[in-house]
Amino acid sequence: MSNLLGFEELWDKCSLELQKCFDDDTFKTWIKPIVPKDLKDNRLSLEVPNNFFYEWVSDHYSDVITNALNKISGNNIKLVYCVRKIDIEQKRNSISANRRIINNHLSFIKKNFADIDDISGLNPKYTFDNFIEGACNQLAKSTAESIAKIPINNPFSPLMIHSDVGLGKTHLLHAIGNKIKNDFKDKIVVFIPTTVFIEQFINSIRSNDPQEFSRFYRDVDVLLLDDVQFLKDKIKTQENLYFIFNQFYQMGKPIVLTSDKPPNKLEGLQTRLVSRFKWGVTADINTPDLETKIAILESKFANEYNIPKPVLEYIAQRVNSNIREMEGIMITAIANISSYHDIDIAFIKKIINKIASNDLVVDKIIDTVSAYFMISIEDMLGKNRHKDISLARQIAMYIAKKYTECPLKTIGSLFGGRDHSTVIHAINTIELLSRNDKKIKNTINILNKEIESKINRKVKVF
Ligand code: ADP
Ligand code: MG
Repeated sequence: MSNLLGFEELWDKCSLELQKCFDDDTFKTWIKPIVPKDLKDNRLSLEVPNNFFYEWVSDHYSDVITNALNKISGNNIKLVYCVRKIDIEQKRNSISANRRIINNHLSFIKKNFADIDDISGLNPKYTFDNFIEGACNQLAKSTAESIAKIPINNPFSPLMIHSDVGLGKTHLLHAIGNKIKNDFKDKIVVFIPTTVFIEQFINSIRSNDPQEFSRFYRDVDVLLLDDVQFLKDKIKTQENLYFIFNQFYQMGKPIVLTSDKPPNKLEGLQTRLVSRFKWGVTADINTPDLETKIAILESKFANEYNIPKPVLEYIAQRVNSNIREMEGIMITAIANISSYHDIDIAFIKKIINKIASNDLVVDKIIDTVSAYFMISIEDMLGKNRHKDISLARQIAMYIAKKYTECPLKTIGSLFGGRDHSTVIHAINTIELLSRNDKKIKNTINILNKEIESKINRKVKVF
């Protein structure tokens, strides 16, 4: 009887049998997506959606499937798996959202990362491999890795990572995205800073097609949303995120969020949204211990610049808060290296003294403004004159003047070696704009508050 069964019929019967062996979720996740392709010489070809699926099913369910097939067919059936070939471009093009929002998304990405031309917005520079693990970030890292490994129906999702600034949240988001993008070519991963998410939403309301926003996110498989504290008081965007969130959750698609505080400390966010944030795992990142700080500095700088270990240890000891500040000292040191023979402790001491408390406030301002506009520090301090980058840079200079005693010359030098007339021009421009442009005024108010809270918390790092 068995040999007369076609491969499709055989698989249908086998599926019915397997349905009895598994609970609903397992069946839906791991058996239903399998498509029979061929049966030759008792070898049944089964097509599976991706490599991970193949590994999981062949490891865990091959025996059960084979037993069911043998029982039905009376033969000794062997399984051959093949991974479905998906034309990723085709899938991307089929995203049902309006082209405009995708183009907006792309233009933002290109603006911030010259070398990225992909709607994922992922920076390949940040991976799990170059993320140093320590007690301070163990839970966040291992949960992030788990989600990257099993990006469907993962019980850890939604994952909410929170910490003070500069401790690796954004790095981890990119690492998750890069791994999934690499291992699951059929998945559409989107990394998006919350400020851009809000901007996209507002654009979609202004457009003739307000649904485009939801349509875009319906087609996304993995959502990585950075710095959700910026959702504060953005009620409409929150409502939309709430619906997107529910859809992702129901479909078992992962969401990973970051914020600068734990969910229950987030202000100006709807309770129902915050309660969703807590449905999965909430993981914090603490200030790293000395060994971890040294390891991070080593991995970032030691090989390329041949920095002696005592120097790295010295920096790690002196900086007791965030990693970005440690990097800042190293980068300043490296930038000044030409006028010295060596980077030794005496040299680093000079650098650290040079970066006095005022300068640290300026650093915080640059950090905050760059995070808000999602413009890299390199661009903030660099020569790029793109309209949005120039605006962000000028706003940061304007705020720096407001919150520090620094002479204009020093501010200029802290902004990538600009002269004082550039700073005067920036201050005048922003003063004028903030008087006439409500949006800019509002932005500056938000940034002022953000910076005030940071300065109050820790004026001095050393
Ligand atoms: P956050 O998003 O929390 O403000 P980032 O992810 O932007 O912080 O990290 C700031 C810098 O510190 C980045 O250059 C990042 O690569 C680095 N960094 C933070 N934590 C680690 C870590 N554990 N290992 C390696 N680099 C790290
Ligand atoms: Mg960040």
